[in-house]
Amino acid sequence: ENNLIEIRDLSIEFKLRSGTIRAVDHVSLDIPRGKVTALVGESGSGKSTLASAILNIISAPGIIKNGSIFINGQDMLRYNANRLRQHRWADVSMVFQAAQNALNPVMRIGEQMIETVLAHTKMSKEEISRKASQLLDYVRLEPSRILKAYPHELSGGMKQRVMIAFSLLLDPQLVILDEPTTALDVITQDYIFDILLKVHKEMNLTMLLLSHDISVVARVADRVGVMYAGKIVEIGETFEMFEDAKHPYTAGLIQAAPSILDDVSDNKSIKGSSPNLLDLPSGCAFHPRCEFATDLCKQEEPRAISVGIGRISACHLNEKGEMLA
Ligand code: SF4
Ligand code: MG
Repeated sequence: ENNLIEIRDLSIEFKLRSGTIRAVDHVSLDIPRGKVTALVGESGSGKSTLASAILNIISAPGIIKNGSIFINGQDMLRYNANRLRQHRWADVSMVFQAAQNALNPVMRIGEQMIETVLAHTKMSKEEISRKASQLLDYVRLEPSRILKAYPHELSGGMKQRVMIAFSLLLDPQLVILDEPTTALDVITQDYIFDILLKVHKEMNLTMLLLSHDISVVARVADRVGVMYAGKIVEIGETFEMFEDAKHPYTAGLIQAAPSILDDVSDNKSIKGSSPNLLDLPSGCAFHPRCEFATDLCKQEEPRAISVGIGRISACHLNEKGEMLA
């Protein structure tokens, strides 16, 4: 089996006082083994909610309305409590944007690493320390110093590298990285992505990266899913997508990314703002912002169709076989 994770027709709703939001709307996505898959989209597009579903940590008032998530062919949404505990960390681990909040401020890093592993396995403390040192070394931190340190003694970038080491402690099959460098300066971001790519290659690790920044995605991911208003509007190999975007929103994101185009004066951001999920535009949710929108776009939602090998796009232009200008 080539795919570690297969998400099928997943919908997640949040019942709010003001109405029901569909944060994830009929999403299907494959996460191939040993590859970096990215989800890119504006904040509120549903990336984090989708990722939380892979850990089955959707919190109230959110509910999984329909769909399945298979890991190694097993539907994890049907796991019992015991199996689910194993699933989190040991099968799938997650690195969040706000690392400093995830670390316990009154415990040394080494103690926290030992505690995390002991909660899931019967390894001895010596074995855990050896493993922790190895992983800290991997993320280019000095183990002897870091294991004894308290979180406040570390910079933001160091804490984020500690969190990456943490996420690898139980040899997970999938590591989810949710905006892993967003709170950090650009040089630190670059450094962390170098480390992540190195770890990915050496461990042959399957990763899911969530980012609002398509230039980050371009640099790191093998495959990209573009999310808009809870839907995946385009999926493809990173290289092919940047070469030839099939969906106007993808094309807009690429044009707006400063580091991808050589000529900065060509950059233009997508007009308008992300839609209100409580009051979505009719038809294609992107139509108020789309320069190609027609009457059909306002009336009818485009279907996701195959637009090449491993490529899917949901736009009326694609249905008619038309190209983006
Ligand atoms: Fe634009 Fe219409 Fe395609 Fe939506 S369906 S992205 S509005 S052209
Ligand atoms: Mg998010």
